[in-house]
Amino acid sequence: MAERVNGASGHSAHVAIVGGGYAGMAAATEIARAGLPVTVFEAARVLGGRARRVETDAARLDNGLHILLGAYRETLRLIDIVRKPGEAAGLLRLPLQLTIHPAFRLHAPRLLAPLHLLGALLCAKGLRLRERIAALRFMAWAQRNAFRLTADTTVATLLGAHGQPHAVSRYLWNPLCVSALNTPPEEASAQVFLNVLRDSFSGKREDSDLLLPTLDFSALFPERAARYVEAHGGHVRTGLPVDGLRRTEKGFEIASSTERYTHAIVAVSPHRAAALLPPQAELAPVVQLIDALTYRPIYSVYLQYDSAVRLPFAMGGIEARYTQWVFDRGQLCGQRGMIGVVISSSGAHQGLSHDDLARAVGAELAGNFPELGKAHWHQVIAEKRATFSCTPKLARPANSTPMERLYLAGDYTASDYPATIESAVRSGVSAARLVLQHA
Ligand SMILES: Cc1cc2nc3c(=O)[nH]c(=O)nc-3n(C[C@H](O)[C@H](O)[C@H](O)COP(=O)(O)OP(=O)(O)OC[C@H]3O[C@@H](n4cnc5c(N)ncnc54)[C@H](O)[C@@H]3O)c2cc1C
Repeated sequence: MAERVNGASGHSAHVAIVGGGYAGMAAATEIARAGLPVTVFEAARVLGGRARRVETDAARLDNGLHILLGAYRETLRLIDIVRKPGEAAGLLRLPLQLTIHPAFRLHAPRLLAPLHLLGALLCAKGLRLRERIAALRFMAWAQRNAFRLTADTTVATLLGAHGQPHAVSRYLWNPLCVSALNTPPEEASAQVFLNVLRDSFSGKREDSDLLLPTLDFSALFPERAARYVEAHGGHVRTGLPVDGLRRTEKGFEIASSTERYTHAIVAVSPHRAAALLPPQAELAPVVQLIDALTYRPIYSVYLQYDSAVRLPFAMGGIEARYTQWVFDRGQLCGQRGMIGVVISSSGAHQGLSHDDLARAVGAELAGNFPELGKAHWHQVIAEKRATFSCTPKLARPANSTPMERLYLAGDYTASDYPATIESAVRSGVSAARLVLQHA
């Protein structure tokens, strides 16, 4: 059992965290690790939030098909902290590769950075020599300028200003932009895009590796974190929606509970955060920033084929009206014959019923991979507010708030990253550090 620590106000510190997604569980891990009592309240029965396991009658799925990058340092660090000794991390590590079947293929050779990127771009299949050189010139310019812009603009404007040929944008930069920022290049922040390129491509070769989970997303981190937190004296309560935080003289009360907390971290998704904050006027500027965010969807389409079916890659793209990325779950997590398709950002797919979308995606897959045959069943999961729209010069709320001992965590809080698992985890770590400084 964790020892109770006396807080700055002289009474025992006890931290409440509302939300058991990656941000909330990262915060809980760091606080429990420091020996402070912590209780997590999660509305759903399953931990993980937007990156959680979804059980259907037919199969165990993920709310969204996710990719992690080697550059996700904090996520990897925390998975290492919470996993049992000797237990595998649950991530398949592949060297940087990008396939847009059948037109384009880029594969990083096993060379030291940045030679691996140089090799990958120079040998990319599907681009002419002058196009490959244009892509290299753009990366060299970004490197020389430390991936910093003097004024933020859109990704499309940046690529245009650097003479990126159509094919380079179409097969390389645009797919990277939409999958990392979930925002189309015409509206996406060029600075945040450069930050992602910086972290993935300008450090060690391993930073650009693709990490594909072999476990479901609840098992990968949040459930391991819950086990860790409980082993360190904390509590994780699932199936408990919090309907508001009340400020008291000594700290916070959770509206539905009689327990008192000295510190609180609100780690829910942004569209739910403002309603949970105490109603005090000092928080109005924070609420304003949250209310100004707009959102983009991500759809995940699962199709179950015969178990003998296998794609030519574990994960790759196709050029199609709806389908963007295709995951072979058999190669990734042993779900043989199950193909998952990701459709990021807004588009025509939103106008279709789930059944019609699954049929359209099935037809697109069959056009590219005739060996698939006919799907036995399908399941579509639409996350309408998957991430905030990552537009230029977007103001995002900080992890600290004007209210003493109240903090925010979540992928939408201020950072130089788009809404990702890594930004969620970093925000949780940062909120936890603020608590520990003020406990
Ligand atoms: C379909 C999809 C695909 C994605 N793909 C990728 C990807 O490939 N790579 C990547 O890095 N990122 C990806 N993301 C983004 C990533 O999933 C999110 O950025 C991250 O999971 C956000 O974590 P979070 O903890 O900030 O918020 P959330 O995951 O939203 O967690 C908030 C938690 O708070 C809980 N909650 C809400 N209200 C209450 C309440 N009143 N009381 C108690 N609990 C409450 C929720 O149930 C939830 O569990 C994807 C997202 C989606 C939806």
